[in-house]
Amino acid sequence: MLKLNTAHPDKTESPMNFHSVFLGAGSNSGNRLDYLQRACSMLETLPDTSITGISPVYLSEPLGITDQDMFYNAVIRIRTALNPRELLGSIKTIETALGRPEQHKRWGPRVIDLDILLYGQIVADSDGLTIPHPEMHKRKFVLHPLLDIDNPDHPVLHCKVSELLEKCPDSSSVEKTSLTLHSHSPSS
Ligand code: AMP
Repeated sequence: MLKLNTAHPDKTESPMNFHSVFLGAGSNSGNRLDYLQRACSMLETLPDTSITGISPVYLSEPLGITDQDMFYNAVIRIRTALNPRELLGSIKTIETALGRPEQHKRWGPRVIDLDILLYGQIVADSDGLTIPHPEMHKRKFVLHPLLDIDNPDHPVLHCKVSELLEKCPDSSSVEKTSLTLHSHSPSS
């Protein structure tokens, strides 16, 4: 089996700190549902990580370049002891393993896109990593599925996701489907 992440602290060093993290997942190329499902399955193989919630799949209009397939989007909540930088490395490894090229057109089609939306109440902005994700409050395809599984606080905008959705100016089409993703974690 593919081992996705190796760097994690020796368990005897210090007690592990687990965090609740929300990840955005999207695909608009190839078998979109299968790419989302495979991303979920790979997230479960990460060390000290389990899936604790998965939203229904949403069908949403592409932003930017509109002449491309609709996106399937979902939000996944994980419980992890990986720190933000380790987690970013892990989701990039998953994207690459699923066939996403390192370089891609900014608004172009993609087999898989994984973003760290919220990492507990942590705020970070350095070396190419911004948490909370700087676009999350502007995107209904993120806020709708996120609200389906939880209603956390946004640690920069200081309001609940439900309030972000009420104020969200995004007018693009976002539709809940009956499609679902599954995990093997008992608590999800
Ligand atoms: P994207 O094309 O949306 O997948 O953007 C990928 C790049 O955004 C990555 O190379 C990351 O370095 C950077 N990035 C910054 N903040 C985040 C975040 N919160 N989640 C995921 N990627 C991020």
